Amino acid sequence: MFDFTDRDIEEPHDIRIIGAPFDGTVSFRPGARFGPSAIRDASDGLETWSPLLDADLEQIRYVDVGDLELPMGNSEAVLAIIRETVDECLADESIPFVLGGEHLVSLPAIEAVFDKYPDLVVVQLDAHADQREDYLGVKLSHACVMRRVSEVIGDENLRQLGIRSGTRDEYNKMRQFGTLATFREEDLDELVEWIADRPVYLTVDLDVFDPACFPGTGTPEPGGIDWWAFQRFIKLMQACDIVGLDAVELAPQLDASGCSSVLAAKAVREMLLVAGNGQ
Ligand code: MN
Ligand code: MN
Repeated sequence: MFDFTDRDIEEPHDIRIIGAPFDGTVSFRPGARFGPSAIRDASDGLETWSPLLDADLEQIRYVDVGDLELPMGNSEAVLAIIRETVDECLADESIPFVLGGEHLVSLPAIEAVFDKYPDLVVVQLDAHADQREDYLGVKLSHACVMRRVSEVIGDENLRQLGIRSGTRDEYNKMRQFGTLATFREEDLDELVEWIADRPVYLTVDLDVFDPACFPGTGTPEPGGIDWWAFQRFIKLMQACDIVGLDAVELAPQLDASGCSSVLAAKAVREMLLVAGNGQ
């Protein structure tokens, strides 16, 4: 069992968990604003030790600053608050771990991390490309977040895994820049080689999982990965220098069984352990 909220910000720490309960631009079913609290609740039922990683949360120095207070109707104000919070975290030499919330919350976090690490690469797990220029005329939307990120970091510095939905334009763009990758073993090895010793921001849109094991999300997409694929991926990430990360798009009330929240909490545990590994 572990409880994110039982941590003191004044303690020395390597990773800072920041709840960003925002779902103001979701295109289908809302509810991701309840994600961070559901992840914390579900984490109560988990062990602190990961058999996969042979690592224990007790050995990782992390704190949880709780949820930010965000004005739901104003995306720009929300992004500014997240940006400021992540900037503070980085200034304190801590790794930001943002819990969404919808995927748009990744944008200010990645911008802040990129400012500190100009050779940053971003690895995105997602069902959706999120490469639209705009969504119904809106550029700041969870459907466009990776386009905005690419404009900041450069298309060639992004890799996208698990993508199975997008427009023709989005797919053309992803093929043009070779950003698409899969969870096949040889592809994962290649991904780690491509990353090499560059700093990594890992953004996990949890709808990358199949709706059969993760129905609690706003825009479910059939044909997703299972836990074992994620496990192979995250184990390989142990070799990488992770300098920022997030887990987004859990909408807990859309899964009455609560299993989606448990899966999200377990993914967050493994991500914490991997990010804390190099400290
Ligand atoms: Mn997404
Ligand atoms: Mn998605």
